[in-house]
Amino acid sequence: MSHLDPLLAEHYETVLQRNPGEQEFHQAVLEVLGTLGPVVRKHREYVDAAIIERICEPERQLIFRVPWTDDQGQVQINRAFRVEFNSALGPYKGGLRFHPSVYLGIVKFLGFEQIFKNALTGMPIGGGKGGSDFDPKGRSDAEVMRFCQSLMTELYRHLGEYTDVPAGDIGVGGREIGYLFGQYKRITNRYESGVLTGKGLAYGGSQVRTEATGYGTVYFTEEMLRTRGESLSGRRVVVSGSGNVAIYAAQKAIQLGAQVVACSDSSGYVVDEAGLDIDLLRQVKEVDRARISAYADERGTAEFVAGGSVWDVPCEVALPCATQNELDGAEARTLVENGVVAVAEGANMPCTPEAVDVFQEGGVLFAPGKAANAGGVATSALEMQQNASRDSWTFAHTEERLRDIMAGVHDRCATAAEEYGSPGDYVAGANISGFAKVADAMLALGVV
Ligand code: NAP
Repeated sequence: MSHLDPLLAEHYETVLQRNPGEQEFHQAVLEVLGTLGPVVRKHREYVDAAIIERICEPERQLIFRVPWTDDQGQVQINRAFRVEFNSALGPYKGGLRFHPSVYLGIVKFLGFEQIFKNALTGMPIGGGKGGSDFDPKGRSDAEVMRFCQSLMTELYRHLGEYTDVPAGDIGVGGREIGYLFGQYKRITNRYESGVLTGKGLAYGGSQVRTEATGYGTVYFTEEMLRTRGESLSGRRVVVSGSGNVAIYAAQKAIQLGAQVVACSDSSGYVVDEAGLDIDLLRQVKEVDRARISAYADERGTAEFVAGGSVWDVPCEVALPCATQNELDGAEARTLVENGVVAVAEGANMPCTPEAVDVFQEGGVLFAPGKAANAGGVATSALEMQQNASRDSWTFAHTEERLRDIMAGVHDRCATAAEEYGSPGDYVAGANISGFAKVADAMLALGVV
């Protein structure tokens, strides 16, 4: 990561002072500002209009109590958040995360990333993110429903298809989106399909939305490899996580001829030298909601390793698809020594800054999450388009749109990196391209 330009350093200090203790948010801001030096040197109008200070300060931050009753009749209290970060390009758009680790700093880091990611897709969506410290693990469907209903009873007043449009993230999948949409519909007495994305196909969802983030990550990886005359075919791939992003990244990689030999969850990882069986993985994770060891129990060729690091498994392509800061400098060095040629972040900020440096210095093709996983939100925008026109597209058509969008994201990153003097640096390219689009819109909209 380049050193902070003096034009930006003071703004980073302000972020540190204004947001004490929010380490992940600090990390995300530093990563973006670290690449914007050449941009503010060339475009002093961004500095003059205080675009940097404004883009680092959310337009609105909501924190609220979510009371609900568990199956034993006990009252439970959780805390929920929605950070409406930037609406220069369109309504706030970004997922909700349910995980015990969620606090304001995580939601702000995710919301900040989302601004630039959404701009990169070329679609008219602003940036936002939300979530709660609620842990769905081990909760019954009825408990999850009561929690979602209580959360939406407060959140609904801040949402709307032209205002703020949440979706899923860690711990929030089709089941949760269904309960959230049901409660929104009931409270508002409006069938406002475009207020949430990731809906089921029976009630306004889009084909390919479930698969989109993982598929898009793999399309982006193919685009990077293509710049070196290579492809995924025949490559050995390791994926981390075994949730929504990981499962469909693995599936698409296999469809493109790769062999995916390992995946993980927070309890450990499985290695399957015969190649992952996606149907079995989906049964274990999506249907049974079991731990990853259950995959190895069912599959003779697989071995479960409790704890440990999935990045010890040698591979040519690594797709971190679990959570932030899950791949550190030491693990990156192991991957490089084992001959990794490409790394694409299916998750948001899964590689630590040191890991990113190791990959870039090692000549590894490296795709940051805000580019590589943009296919999820882009397909959410396609869901909004279909809702607005009361239409529904086929799987093939929607996937074709996703593939084109990912090629566009790749080209925007590559072009911006080239233009600002760091060819092949997708981190710089993604930040610069996303930032410039939002900054130009903010300039045009005045001081608001
Ligand atoms: P998910 O379906 O809930 O799956 C998350 C996976 O990551 C699970 O296997 C989980 O294991 C693992 N994980 C979560 N927290 C962990 C932790 N602290 N330590 C180790 N493993 C952990 O979530 P998802 O939708 O796939 O999201 C994964 C990542 O992709 C996140 O960074 C998310 O922000 C990003 N992303 C998602 C989308 C989307 O459309 N869903 C779009 C863009 C980016 P356990 O079950 O053991 O917790």
